[in-house]
Amino acid sequence: MTNLILTSKKKSLTPAALYRRRISWTQRARRLVQLAFATFILYTSVVHHLATEDGTTASIDALCPFGGLETFWRYLSSGGQYVPKTHASNLILFTGLLVGTLIAGSAFCGWICPFGAVQDLLTGIRKRLHLPEIQIPQRLDRILRYGRYVMLGIILYQTIVSVKLWFATIDPYRTLFGLDWLFDFQPAVAWAAYLSIIITLVSSLFVERAWCRYACPLGGALSLVGKFSLLRIRRTEESCKGCAICSRPCPVKLPVDTAKTISSDCIGCLECVDTCPRPGALEVKLAPVWLDRIRKENSDVR
Ligand code: SF4
Ligand code: SF4
Repeated sequence: MTNLILTSKKKSLTPAALYRRRISWTQRARRLVQLAFATFILYTSVVHHLATEDGTTASIDALCPFGGLETFWRYLSSGGQYVPKTHASNLILFTGLLVGTLIAGSAFCGWICPFGAVQDLLTGIRKRLHLPEIQIPQRLDRILRYGRYVMLGIILYQTIVSVKLWFATIDPYRTLFGLDWLFDFQPAVAWAAYLSIIITLVSSLFVERAWCRYACPLGGALSLVGKFSLLRIRRTEESCKGCAICSRPCPVKLPVDTAKTISSDCIGCLECVDTCPRPGALEVKLAPVWLDRIRKENSDVR
């Protein structure tokens, strides 16, 4: 009897309902993971501020993988020294992130990064309040995306020559999660940091994941490394019906419905895979892009 009921219930679900159910589970899991990491960083920051003696607990600086990239050159060139305020933990986190990105692309951005989560939250708030979304024209969007590499280049260069965390004082992630604005509000001293976070949050309210798409140096670095990742989302043209439903929920506005292999700017949120109604049209595959070239060369030789 139970089986009969279950069978009939399953049969009554339309394909659309089935994929909506799939959406909710993957995306719920993602939200939970994002919430867990954001809470952990906030907790670390609060504990650090409440510690009686300075330096008795780790600050969020010690938990930033980008700090590992910033100190990497100093570590190599000076026989194991760090840029001040970075530690071995930064290098370890950066190495772990590097390995993770070589496997799963920029999934860190879609699942773990607390600043990505904040931007997703802002998008949710905008939708709830029915505020307009600013759509960046495709051509301008393509140009603006280079902003991340420009930021990355400038920050790494300045950090190497000045041997200090040159960007830290205006880094919007650090300003928001570092909680100095709450425990040690100093507008006269930290006005640039406050201005930077206000601009970033307002932009990201109206332009989905604006910071991630156009300015984040870590996102830029991960996108470069992600070009070699083992796992990629692929679209199979034979199964695809060209409905373009998959491009709509993409937080970083990638043209999923026309790409064969989704760009390394993909943050691995899986919204597109969940949304696609055609089985097999969009899939995460163990199929690095560089393998395509080798395969093509081999088939050309034959
Ligand atoms: S692009 Fe930067 S801010 Fe956005 S999720 Fe990735 S690391 Fe975080
Ligand atoms: S991949 Fe799926 S959602 Fe995207 S255009 Fe093709 S059928 Fe539509």
